[in-house]
Amino acid sequence: TALDDGPQISEALQVLHRVFGYDSFRGSQQEIIEHVIGGGDALVLMPTGGGKSLCYQIPALVRKGVGVVISPLIALMQDQVDALTALGVRAGFLNSTQNPDERRMVEAEFLAGELDLLYLAPERLRVDATLRLLDRGIVSLFAIDEAHCVAQWGHDFRPDYLTLSQLHERWPDVPRVALTATATEATHAEIASRLNLGQARHFVASFDRPNIQYRIAHKDKPQKQLLDLLRAEHAGDAGIVYCLSRASVEKTAAFLVDNGVDALPYHAGLDSRVRAANQARFLREDGMVMVATIAFGMGIDKPDVRFVAHLDLPKSVEGYYQETGRAGRDGLPSTAWLAYGLQDVVQQRKMIDGSEGDAAHRRRLGTHLDAMLALCETVECRRVRLLAYFGQQSTACGNCDTCLSPPAAWDGTIAAQKVLSTVWRLKNERRGQKFGAGQIVDILLGAKTAKVIQFDHDTLRVFGIGTELSRTEWMSVVRQLLAMKLIAVEPSYNALVLTEGSDEVLGRKREVMLRREPERPARAAKTAKA
Ligand code: ADP
Ligand code: ZN
Repeated sequence: TALDDGPQISEALQVLHRVFGYDSFRGSQQEIIEHVIGGGDALVLMPTGGGKSLCYQIPALVRKGVGVVISPLIALMQDQVDALTALGVRAGFLNSTQNPDERRMVEAEFLAGELDLLYLAPERLRVDATLRLLDRGIVSLFAIDEAHCVAQWGHDFRPDYLTLSQLHERWPDVPRVALTATATEATHAEIASRLNLGQARHFVASFDRPNIQYRIAHKDKPQKQLLDLLRAEHAGDAGIVYCLSRASVEKTAAFLVDNGVDALPYHAGLDSRVRAANQARFLREDGMVMVATIAFGMGIDKPDVRFVAHLDLPKSVEGYYQETGRAGRDGLPSTAWLAYGLQDVVQQRKMIDGSEGDAAHRRRLGTHLDAMLALCETVECRRVRLLAYFGQQSTACGNCDTCLSPPAAWDGTIAAQKVLSTVWRLKNERRGQKFGAGQIVDILLGAKTAKVIQFDHDTLRVFGIGTELSRTEWMSVVRQLLAMKLIAVEPSYNALVLTEGSDEVLGRKREVMLRREPERPARAAKTAKA
């Protein structure tokens, strides 16, 4: 069949030139496109900005019939269709935002073969009428965008995606291409099995984004730290600031505006018109900073985002990778900055314990969080750890905070024992009172605060035994012990409690190596490794 491929390759290239105006394919685009044009199934793992869209758009233009694109990003369908229309591609979409007349019009175009691409929300495929519609037209291929949404093990599961396994059963001859910008090996395997992609060729691009500088800082005064970062390194740059809650989005945006930064808020609680207007300004104007919850960003194609800052800890490495991946799609040096502190760990562990769903679900969330914490507390190159999480090997990058100012590892066994024995002593508190990290550290430092006096904690044998470390250092020790599960948070009280691991440390059966915070936070090297 090598001979048959000849004219098709050139047709794909012609479409690339003529319709999209690009000179050449990138990475494995050409291989993927040829494979799909030839009728093969494909599973494409490619980082954000890698150029996944062309991998189904060009085959859809070359093959006979209409390419059907399944996408969860309903809010972006209109934009995607507009962008394609501007290039002269005939595209339409079907989703819940349309009225019956609009829907009927698109359906008629589909049946008449007047479309090259049809975008579908996954929930449309639960409707029998949609399946029958597809039966009556000619489908050239199915593209399953954001394919990681089918994986229950992943971080972004959408139940509607499970219905996509029927595509293969119902239309066995239509090639399918599943695409995602994030997948661990476990998620990768789950996508393949849930979507019945047993015969598919897998195309796995490198997940390295060498122009992004990864930095994870100790959280102190996050808003001020953020402002310092913007003033020192990103004045006038476009960027995204992620916060966990709507309230902190609002507060942070207001704080930045008060300090002369062009910042806009974005979260699901805002009126949809305000949201759309803010998104449009961010995309259109130069140097806007979007302060947002993670509701913002999927499918946003803005090439010159110079920084992505997280003021709260992401829930998973996949989420972190996907969000930071929105920086530097143009390939120029960009910053991924995260501020992370003790409170993040406490809060997220509590959220997991209090979350709905069965034990297996909570375990999954816990595993995701643990991996994220390990990335935060590593003394190794951040990039090496990040890529290793996605099953890819690399060498120290020289362009992340731990490469630029390596944190010292130190033997924190004795410090850990001091914390744990304090927690142990407080466990027997007569009045059933529970205590958090603040009280533990006050006791270790020998601080006679009102609360210490009130509970006679200055009479404890551990009172004042920890003056060799500063308050910040003790907080860092507590945070790392939490990350390592050598202590835990009791959800109802915010109190620190012992774990099975604690016994090993107290019984001197286990050493505890800790990461020392660098004296000064790493400054960006102005030139990123290309
Ligand atoms: P992804 O979906 O993988 O995040 P996109 O498909 O949105 O990436 O492509 C990212 C950007 O790169 C887009 O602006 C796209 O037009 C551009 N692009 C993709 N392929 C090529 C190519 N072969 N040559 C030049 N630009 C490309
Ligand atoms: Zn590095």
